[in-house]
Amino acid sequence: MTKGLRLVLFGPPGAGKGTQAQLLRERLNLTHISSGDLFRHHLGLGTPLGLRAKEYMNRGDLVPDEVTIDIILEKVMSIPSDGGFILDGFPRNPNQADVLDKKLAADSRDLDVVVHLKVSESELLNRLGGRYICRDCQSPHSIGEGEDTTDKKCDRCGAGLYQRDDDAPAAVMKRIEVYNEETTPLLGFYQQRGVLVEIPGDHSVDRVNKLIMTALNS
Ligand SMILES: [Zn+2]
Repeated sequence: MTKGLRLVLFGPPGAGKGTQAQLLRERLNLTHISSGDLFRHHLGLGTPLGLRAKEYMNRGDLVPDEVTIDIILEKVMSIPSDGGFILDGFPRNPNQADVLDKKLAADSRDLDVVVHLKVSESELLNRLGGRYICRDCQSPHSIGEGEDTTDKKCDRCGAGLYQRDDDAPAAVMKRIEVYNEETTPLLGFYQQRGVLVEIPGDHSVDRVNKLIMTALNS
């Protein structure tokens, strides 16, 4: 049996990272490790790691790296050594990347590839700025630029639509800025290790997926 691919997926908010992770998981039979989902899991169940994270959150402090790293590494190390995974939302800074690197190397399972979905700012603003959510069933809708939203109703249930504060243009710009600050040093780190692959992401989901699959096969 061949070993599974060990992969990190980077991409700005609106790059379609979740969708691509899902497709890669199915096609390559990988475990998808989403840091957001893992945190929700530990907090929801009140596990020892969840309780540790919660202490900081209750004080309004950031969860320190060591707790985040423990949460992610516990999951990574629970995967059989020949099993592949996709890390999504981790690492977020050079320290996390460094600890991950050392831990994986000590277990002879280095990362195979780091995929960076590159999407232009205008495309991100377009995608996120046009995202409206149904007030009732929460299904997402896409509204074109300049289109009037006041009378727009949900395709599924007919309820009104609204835009999350997070998706308003100024908030989107801020999210992109934070993402760039966080990831730029990480991309350099992985480029030096020769595992970074840049994928142009201003395309349809299918097209982007094909580009990733082609890059992974070569
Ligand atoms: Zn609805």
